[in-house]
Amino acid sequence: MVQGLAVSYVRVEDVERISPRMLRIGFSGDALASLMEDRPDQQMKLCFPRAGQRVPRLPEPDAEDTYGMRWYEAYLAIPEPERPLMRSFTVRSYDPGSGLMAVDFVLHGDDGPATRWARTAGPGDVAGMVGPSSAYARPLPRAGHLLLAGDESALPAIGTILEALPAGARVTVCAEVADAAEEQRFDSAAEVTVCWVHRDRGASLLDAVRSAELPQGDTAGWLAGEAGTVRALRRHLVEERGLPRSAVEFSGYWRRALTQDDAPTEEDLAWAAERAAETP
Ligand SMILES: Cc1cc2nc3c(=O)[nH]c(=O)nc-3n(C[C@H](O)[C@H](O)[C@H](O)COP(=O)(O)OP(=O)(O)OC[C@H]3O[C@@H](n4cnc5c(N)ncnc54)[C@H](O)[C@@H]3O)c2cc1C
Repeated sequence: MVQGLAVSYVRVEDVERISPRMLRIGFSGDALASLMEDRPDQQMKLCFPRAGQRVPRLPEPDAEDTYGMRWYEAYLAIPEPERPLMRSFTVRSYDPGSGLMAVDFVLHGDDGPATRWARTAGPGDVAGMVGPSSAYARPLPRAGHLLLAGDESALPAIGTILEALPAGARVTVCAEVADAAEEQRFDSAAEVTVCWVHRDRGASLLDAVRSAELPQGDTAGWLAGEAGTVRALRRHLVEERGLPRSAVEFSGYWRRALTQDDAPTEEDLAWAAERAAETP
C-alpha cells in the first residue's frame, strides 16, 4: 500500500488501435506493481508534457499528503507554460506478468491535450501518473440487478467492472458509441445484456436507458460519461424509476465545450456536493 498521494512516471511500450476511434496504450513503470489494486474502475490522472518537453515536470509527492492537496498546490505553482496538462483516465487492465498497464484513449475529434498526445504516442514516450488511489475508490452500489450506462469514455471502466463481477450477477449495459465499428466485446462471468446505442443512427443513451427493462425494486445504477447526459440519466432513474439516490453511482467524465482545466460551473458544484453528501 502506497502512503500518501502516488505520483510516478509511465513509459509507452506499445500502441494498438482497438477500434477506429479508440487507442489502447500499454505503459510500463517502476511503480506500477506497487500501485495497482485488485479492484475494478481504478481511476487516475495522466500528465502530459508541454511542447518542447520530453518528460512532464511533476512536483515530488509528500507521504503525509493523503489527498494530494499540497501536491496539487505545488503543481499549480509551476509556471503555466511548463505545467503538465492533466486529464483523468481509467486503468483498463494491469498484467503483473508483463508489468504492463493498458489505458484506452477515446479519439473524440474535438482534440484536447490527452487526445493529441495519444494520437502520436510511441514507444519511449513518457507521461506522469497521479494515482490510482483507493482514497477515491467508490464501491459499486449493490442490488440484484446492475445497470451500467455510459458513452465510450466509460467503456474502459465498464469493461473492468464486468470482468470483476461474479457468476450469478445480472447486468444490463447501455453503451453509447459513434457507430457500430466502435462496439467492443467484454468478458464476464455475469449474466450480461448489452444494448449498443449508435449516434450515427440518431439514437440516444437516455432513450436506451428509458426503454431498458430493469427489475422494479432490485436495480442499482452506475453512470458515467458526458456530464449533462449523466445528470439526465440519474434524474430518470431516481425520479421516474424510483431508484433510491444511494443506489445510483454517477460521475460526469467530461463536459461539452469545456475541459478539465475550466472551472466548475454552478451545476457541477451542486452535483459534486450532492455526490459527496451521499458518499457513505
Ligand atoms: C474518472 C474518469 C475516468 C475517465 N476514464 C477515461 C478513459 O479511460 N478513457 C478516455 O478516453 N476518457 C476517460 N475519461 C474522460 C477524459 O478524462 C475526458 O474525455 C478528457 O476531457 C479528455 O481530455 P482531452 O485532452 O482529450 O480533451 P479536453 O481538453 O479535456 O477537452 C477538449 C474538448 O473535447 C471535448 N471532449 C472531451 N472528452 C470528450 C469525449 N470523450 N467525447 C467527445 N468530446 C469530448 C470537450 O468538451 C472539449 O470541448 C475519464 C474521466 C474521468 C473523470
